[in-house]
This record gives sequence, C-alpha cells and structure tokens, in this order.
Amino acid sequence: MLDYFGKDIQNLKEKKIFFFDLDGTTYNENTLFEGAKELFEFLADHGRKVVFLTNNSSRSVTEYVDKLNRMDVVCDRDNFFTSTQATVMYLKEQGLTKGIYAQGTVAFVKELKESGLSLEFEDENQVQAIVVAFDTELTFEKMRRTSYLLGKNVPYIATNPDLVCPVSFGFVPDCGSMCIGYENATKRKPLYIGKPNRIMMDYALKRFGFEREEAVMVGDRLYTDIASGINAQMDTICVLSGESSIDDVKASPYKATYVLNSIKDIYDFFLSLSLGK
Ligand SMILES: [Mg+2]
Repeated sequence: MLDYFGKDIQNLKEKKIFFFDLDGTTYNENTLFEGAKELFEFLADHGRKVVFLTNNSSRSVTEYVDKLNRMDVVCDRDNFFTSTQATVMYLKEQGLTKGIYAQGTVAFVKELKESGLSLEFEDENQVQAIVVAFDTELTFEKMRRTSYLLGKNVPYIATNPDLVCPVSFGFVPDCGSMCIGYENATKRKPLYIGKPNRIMMDYALKRFGFEREEAVMVGDRLYTDIASGINAQMDTICVLSGESSIDDVKASPYKATYVLNSIKDIYDFFLSLSLGK
C-alpha cells in the first residue's frame, strides 16, 4: 500500500509500538474516527503496543481512559502517556521530588502527589522547583503566586509548550501562552517537556521499554506531533483528518515519513496484510 505521495508503507508492519495523538487523529471532539476502534483492536491482538499521547496536562489519565471507553475503545491507564507523566519522570530523574510548587488543575496536582512527589513546603525557601501546567482553573491569585515564586532561583518546568488549545468556539490560551505571560512578568522561560520536544518521546519509549526504531508516531499537527517524532528520530505518520491540509504538509519543514488520509488507512493496510493481499 502506498501513502499520499506514493511511498510504500510496508515498513509499518515491523513497528512494535504505535503512538497516537488524540484530537484530530483518534477522534474529533467526541466522535471517534472511522476505523480507529478496529485498528487499536487489531494492533493489540497482533502483539503491538498502542499508546495515546497527549500534551494536555489539565486532565488526568483516568479522565482520558473514561473518554475513550465511552467511545467504545478498550484501553486502560497503560495505554496512555501524557506530558504530566513525562514531567514527573523528568523531576524524579533530576532528584526534584520535594518542595514542588505546582500550578495546575486539581486533577494535575492530584496526579503529581499520587506519583510520589511532595508538594508541601513550610516556607517558600523550601521550594525546589516550579511546575506550570495547562491550568483551566487558573485564577489571578495563582498567577500572582507563581510570578512571586519565579523570583526564586529554582528550576522552572512547564508541561507543554502549546500556545492554544482547541475548544468548541475556537481556541483558548494553553500552557505556552501562560508561560509567555510569566516571561513578560519575570523574564524567566521554562524548560518545556511536551511535544515537540524529544524529551516527551524519549520518556515515552523508556516508560514502555521500546527502541525508537520500533516506534511510529501518528498525529495531525506537523509542528508538534510530527516534529516530536522527527526530533526523537522516530518514524512518523501525518494524518489529514485534523489540523493539517495537504498544502500545509507540502509547505511544512516537518516532513513525516508517511502521509495518509486518516487512521483508517492504517487499518486498511494491516487488514490487507492479514488477508494476504
Ligand atoms: Mg491533534
């Protein structure tokens, strides 16, 4: 089977772990794309690992599992990797496990605590790191506190660099935009963890125990999904079911290994193999 530009996608059958972006790749808001459920089941039945990857740090893994389960997709916590989980791995690797100041949703803070990080500190001199997430429960008071603490010379980490998050009427500011606000206020820039940074993909491989050659990243955004795969030297599939049009694909500096119309093309490919075509 050939991709949009006539490139043979045969090599996909060698892949052992498939990373899927969510919105625009797996579903559109609350509607699962055609062939998605069948593809995930086929891959799982044939010994491949399916992992949903998201930069969105405002929702917990449990919320995502529930959302996909409601769409009739069989999955559990072990099928997800979020920028929150990657951030936790980074903090632990750096030995930053206590005195973490976290600005994020209740779900985000809960997840950090459950992963063994201590968010307690008696006075601000005990703060060891500042973590900013996509905070859909942001208040001015929180912004004021974060700005104040950024005056301390401690590591500053942000879960994801996205400037905007799509919503029903358009977009709202995401974590990256909040951090630009903090940069204006404090002159400090965070270390960003989520896509397109390779740290997210490197940790995802580490978390599930696969080599980069065994992996493929499937996504609809060129400058995040495809860029993250390229940055981590991983094969990529750009699907045209979301944000990117074929003209965007042609104009972008981020060249995916393969370009397909949607996730259904991947299913059709595997189905043709199993039928011996
Ligand atoms: Mg997407």
